[in-house]
Amino acid sequence: MPPMSSRPTEAAPTAPREWHAETAAAAIERLATVETTGLSRHEAARRLAQYGPNRLPPPRRRGPLLRMLLQFHNPLIYVLLAAALVTFWLEDYVDTGVILGVVVINAVIGFIQESKAERALEAVQAMLASRAMVLREGERHEIDAAELVPGDIVLLESGARVPADLRLTRVKNLRVSEAALTGESVPVEKAIEPVGAAAAIGDRACMAYSGTVVAFGQARGVVVTTGPATEIGRIGALVSEVATLATPLTRRLDQFARQITLFILGLSLITFLYGHYLGGMAALDIFLAVVGLAVAAIPEGLPAVVTITLAIGTAVMARQRAIVRRLPAVETLGSVGVICSDKTGTLTKNEMTAVRLMLPGRSLEASGAGYAPEGGFREGGRAIDPREDAGLRALARCALLCNDARLHKEESGWTLAGDPTEGALLAMALKAGLDPELEAAASPRIDEIPFESEHRFMATLHHDHEGHVFVLLKGAPERVLALCPHDASGHPLDLDDWHARMEAAAAKGQRVLALAQCEMPPGTTSLAMADITPRFSLLGLVGMIDPPRPEAIEAVAACHRAGIRVVMITGDHAVTAAAIGRELGLRAERALTGETIEALDDAALRREIEQTDVIARASPEHKLRLVAALQAEGRLVAMTGDGVNDAPALKAADIGVAMGLRGTDAAKEAADLVLADDNFASIARAVREGRTVFDNIKKSLLFILPTNGGEAGVILLAVFAGLALPVTAGQILWINMVTAVTLALALAFEPAEPGVMRRPPRPPGEPLITRLLLGRIVYVSLLMIAVAFAVYEWELARGSSIETARTAVVNMLVLGELVYLYNARHFTAHAFARDTLYGNPVAFWTCVILIGLQLLFTYAPTMQQLFQTTALDWTSWGLILALAAAKFLAVEAEKWLLRRLNVSSM
Ligand code: ATP
Repeated sequence: MPPMSSRPTEAAPTAPREWHAETAAAAIERLATVETTGLSRHEAARRLAQYGPNRLPPPRRRGPLLRMLLQFHNPLIYVLLAAALVTFWLEDYVDTGVILGVVVINAVIGFIQESKAERALEAVQAMLASRAMVLREGERHEIDAAELVPGDIVLLESGARVPADLRLTRVKNLRVSEAALTGESVPVEKAIEPVGAAAAIGDRACMAYSGTVVAFGQARGVVVTTGPATEIGRIGALVSEVATLATPLTRRLDQFARQITLFILGLSLITFLYGHYLGGMAALDIFLAVVGLAVAAIPEGLPAVVTITLAIGTAVMARQRAIVRRLPAVETLGSVGVICSDKTGTLTKNEMTAVRLMLPGRSLEASGAGYAPEGGFREGGRAIDPREDAGLRALARCALLCNDARLHKEESGWTLAGDPTEGALLAMALKAGLDPELEAAASPRIDEIPFESEHRFMATLHHDHEGHVFVLLKGAPERVLALCPHDASGHPLDLDDWHARMEAAAAKGQRVLALAQCEMPPGTTSLAMADITPRFSLLGLVGMIDPPRPEAIEAVAACHRAGIRVVMITGDHAVTAAAIGRELGLRAERALTGETIEALDDAALRREIEQTDVIARASPEHKLRLVAALQAEGRLVAMTGDGVNDAPALKAADIGVAMGLRGTDAAKEAADLVLADDNFASIARAVREGRTVFDNIKKSLLFILPTNGGEAGVILLAVFAGLALPVTAGQILWINMVTAVTLALALAFEPAEPGVMRRPPRPPGEPLITRLLLGRIVYVSLLMIAVAFAVYEWELARGSSIETARTAVVNMLVLGELVYLYNARHFTAHAFARDTLYGNPVAFWTCVILIGLQLLFTYAPTMQQLFQTTALDWTSWGLILALAAAKFLAVEAEKWLLRRLNVSSM
């Protein structure tokens, strides 16, 4: 019996086929789908179960064991491990145990925090899952790209990332950038004719491959393969960037760690030689002291603290609708000096409403709000009947037909699918009483030139049923007026008058669009750029408002207070832009236009850009020059963008910001930060969070370094002064184990400083450890040494045993660090507030645990044996507490002094 033939849908998609050598119709048939309606929901679900999700296997991650082992891969830890080995060899098992304790606690905390950080980053990346526009059951749907199946009909437009391997079935000026697949950076022109079976990937013009990006134009195609079966899946290329926890800052800190390790090793060697040969200490004793010194001095907790601080910042930003795509952005955000923002939708609400209609010889006011087609028209205060008004109807018909937006009535009101500018025009046409379906049936669209910001207009070709063919045109007035020798009533165009009317509307902040129409020879079936010549008749102008977002006005003010300049970049007319700019609180006496920018050389541009905050009629290429001009002044620049052509500017900026809702995949992939709500206020909040993160990393340094310095200083001083050690090596190791990672980690959770957004941005080149910071580190180290020795000498003087004196010193050091944690919560703001104790719950509970551990250390018999400690009496505690308080006040005094000198950050 012959084998049963399998159904075409099952054989085709998984096996690699030469789809490029088949016609589009053959591909569609083989995939058992319909080009005009797509798959049914049911069939799509069935195929999804059969072929699996359209997703590449995730990049292989390091296993937990390897990640745990990597925690030990750090020069600081090597030194500790070496010390543990030597103490073990010397049979000093307690010290070995404690050193290993330090290492293991550090590794475990590092491991846990790093996993959390990675999970936080992954969660954030998942928020950026890519979407695809498909046709199913005859309707367009935006779905998660992972749900695509072979046979789906996908719609592509410029800026979109191709979501699966597609056999193109329809293209309109389609050019695709295939760099991800072929390495070729110049976008490739696409077509639908099949090519030879032997054609290389780069030559298969009728295919669009997963992972490549539409640089221009529009298309429709049928999915032939998904997920791992796609070309990009087969070559195993990673499309998504791998999240990494390394940033310039962590690298700088790694370098710092290496330097400080070398320094500590050198210092330890000198101390050993001095103590042994000049101080006459026994080799074993001085060796153990030196081990204690090295362990005390090494800031082993630093890397973990920095990573977790950055990760916490990322999570906070995500909650505030700013999604970090690259971790370094978190720290860079803190020093942003200029934010360049798109106007429409970011600074404004992007809810356009047509308010003014300028017809030949007369003007009308439109009433109503939002996209609801409710309201009417008035001329000089008198209501008019649109059905009787031929001029208004002609304008409204053009607004309706040369338009791709749709309005839907839902329970919550009218919602728009499409571009807000077109939504406003559509609502206006509905108010004028036109019926979209009747009009579309009476004058079907045959072809179109879609809107692109570069040419600032859109044109559609229609025919009616009497054999007329005509073009409808709408776009920026200066483009359209230049194409109209006369107006709709046949009079030659009075350009000056129209410009004056346009500017009067623009000065009120209105976006003005011009609408026009022209007849074409009967039988014309296609529309090209060459057809857009000066032969149109002007139907009129429409002025629409798009009010600033109230929260954007506040955010701009907040940025100004924080010393950050805000520059508004818009495709709108200069007069409109300046009016909106003023409402937002920007410097906008006049706007700098794209045209002017083109005429200026780089030096002149740098001068001009200092004069105004508003850039109008700008296109993406101008953004690139603006970034360069602003950076040349030594500022860090954040730049927003949404289109495919914005990608270079987003990459060139120090922080590229893409719009999550409106943005194209190309823009999102080029960006460091994606705004989930497209809102300018979210950028300002992200900057605030970036500053907080940087502050917290500095606070961690400010805490860790002097505590290490103090502990190490105590030992150094004793050795060089020839004194008995005030703490044993084992004890100093204990202090390290219980404080190093725990206390410093608490500062990662510190909320923002009260004045974060009232100080100027951090200069980009500023070193991590500034002079002020260094001053504080030295000062606190000295205080630590002073109180430790004071307790030690006082205990000895009152006749306590050396064990008791040492126990007191250990408690002094720990308590000294604990109170210092509360000093360090603010750079210079005072700590005498309830909030100091309770404002950071992590700090509070860490301290409670620490006190418990110290009581064990002092009173538990096993601990007394292990660490040679003894119980302390009330007198000792009294002194320790008094000195801790004095030290606390001494640091507060320094902060007071800095406050008097107007220092608010370090
Ligand atoms: P912004 O740059 O502030 O975000 P935008 O991106 O909306 O604004 P563009 O889309 O580049 O600016 O629009 C520039 C100009 O093109 C507008 O001022 C308007 O005159 C015209 N325009 C905008 N949308 C359309 C459209 N759908 N059809 C025709 N012309 C349009």
